[in-house]
Amino acid sequence: MDIVAKCPQCDAGLPVSAADAPDVIKCGACGRDIPLAVTQAVRSGTRLDVCPVCGGADFYGRKDFDPKMGLTVVIIGIAISAVFYWFKRDLIAYSILAAATLVDLFIYGRLKDLSVCYRCHTEFRGPEARTSPAFDLHTADVLEMEYERKIGRR
Ligand SMILES: [Zn+2]
Ligand SMILES: [Zn+2]
Repeated sequence: MDIVAKCPQCDAGLPVSAADAPDVIKCGACGRDIPLAVTQAVRSGTRLDVCPVCGGADFYGRKDFDPKMGLTVVIIGIAISAVFYWFKRDLIAYSILAAATLVDLFIYGRLKDLSVCYRCHTEFRGPEARTSPAFDLHTADVLEMEYERKIGRR
């Protein structure tokens, strides 16, 4: 399982591999030491039970999607179709636009799920990290507040 640990101080994402994660990692952005408590289940990749960064056990699943990538495809599509539109080739223009949208849907459909820690937003990728329930705003509110109080942000 691949982990992107979120620095509690500056929110920088620090990629770590669960299998050989050290006990402490240093944030490359702010220099803070972040202790990692990787459980046996996480290290061996059997199950995502406890977050190594904050010790929380609540995760939500979301699609591993980079919105910038999808947007780029659509923007390129619009740019190309605008050229054809300019030359009064409406039909070609529309089909290019439709094609760009389809490519976008295709990319989205192939995305894998990842799990995110409700408290510290650390991300987990891997086959065993695809079983988390959908995001719940109420849970997020409660747990984020609890965590931020714990690390002294509020
Ligand atoms: Zn940091
Ligand atoms: Zn966490």
